[in-house]
Amino acid sequence: MAHTVTLIPGDGVGPELAEATRGVIDATGVKIGWEVQDAGLAVMEKEGTPLPDRVLDSIRRNKVAIKGPITTPRGGGFRSVNVALRKALDLYACLRPCKHYTGVRSRFEDVDLVVVRENTEDLYAGVEFEENSPEAREIVKLAGGRIRDDAAISIKPISAFASDRIVDFAFRYAKDNGRRKVTAVAKDNIMKVTDGLFYRTARDVAKRYEGQVEYDEWLVDAMCMQLVQKPELYDVLVMPNLYGDILSDLCAGLIGGLGVAPGANIGTDIAVFEAIHGSAPKYTGLNKVNPTALILSGVLMLRHLGEREAADRLENAVAAVIAEGKDVTYDMKPNRNDPTAVGTKEMAAAIIAKM
Ligand code: NAD
Repeated sequence: MAHTVTLIPGDGVGPELAEATRGVIDATGVKIGWEVQDAGLAVMEKEGTPLPDRVLDSIRRNKVAIKGPITTPRGGGFRSVNVALRKALDLYACLRPCKHYTGVRSRFEDVDLVVVRENTEDLYAGVEFEENSPEAREIVKLAGGRIRDDAAISIKPISAFASDRIVDFAFRYAKDNGRRKVTAVAKDNIMKVTDGLFYRTARDVAKRYEGQVEYDEWLVDAMCMQLVQKPELYDVLVMPNLYGDILSDLCAGLIGGLGVAPGANIGTDIAVFEAIHGSAPKYTGLNKVNPTALILSGVLMLRHLGEREAADRLENAVAAVIAEGKDVTYDMKPNRNDPTAVGTKEMAAAIIAKM
């Protein structure tokens, strides 16, 4: 086998999508040994945890994984497996390419953006203190009148280390993938200290790539307006965690939404590829949902494995099937009740036939 990859089918519609994705990747001819590792709801019932160590051990061993979505129970129940994976494996970069394919209904056509989001710090570090807790009172005191006595408080850590490694990741990605520009996005006119450090670090990193990749900066609010007015002007966008969470969904919306948006979470030597959508529980087992997002995540995985020719061939086949608009799932038809819509398996088969 040329590569061994951990395959986590997930739950809800995950297993159907994983099967379709494995089939099209195998059809490229790239030899992959799939190490299937279950995680999620059913595993919780059997093994008492939704993310057993065997799954993490397999990913650590193989360095590359592709996963279907996993349900996170609301309110009580277990914590998000997706978040736990990112933390346990220090997958510090969230990569979300947002490219429009002809045939996908969207308000915009000329969009080919890549959002790189920092995954480990910012307001998502989870350092929060309830109102009137001893810690909150301490911080209120330190703030010298700038915070109300009864405030709940979230801390926003931004470090030079994490900023350097995420911006460097964005530049490396740009360089390796023939991209021309990296835009750093934050808001240092208001968060002068934290976002100020992010931009200062980004400028230092940009110097390391001078003459190879261009660099510019936007404030996050202005960037949102730019993206919905002139998305074609931008290329790779890099930002701290919270802005990245919001802008990556905005950019997914620009290209037609959840069904077609791939992603990856990447660390120093480990990468986990996954669609950005969830487990769509109401469609479980119905062979109905769109496999495109997970298949395009597979395209990213093939590129990551150095299988660029196979990745291009698979991406072109996906693009051709979408452009034809015949063998596509219900969500890609102009009318969602269109009886000519095909199922997950049939769309995957059409993609294989195109290759
Ligand atoms: P969702 O993405 O599952 O569904 C949102 C909407 O999009 C639904 O109408 C769904 O039917 C539709 N949809 C999703 N994927 C589709 C596809 N491939 N083709 C066609 N339609 C599709 O989001 P949700 O309902 O908020 O979440 C459901 C569960 O998934 C939750 O438990 C959530 O925590 C989990 N989730 C997991 C991940 C992950 O594993 N990375 C990501 C997001 C949500």
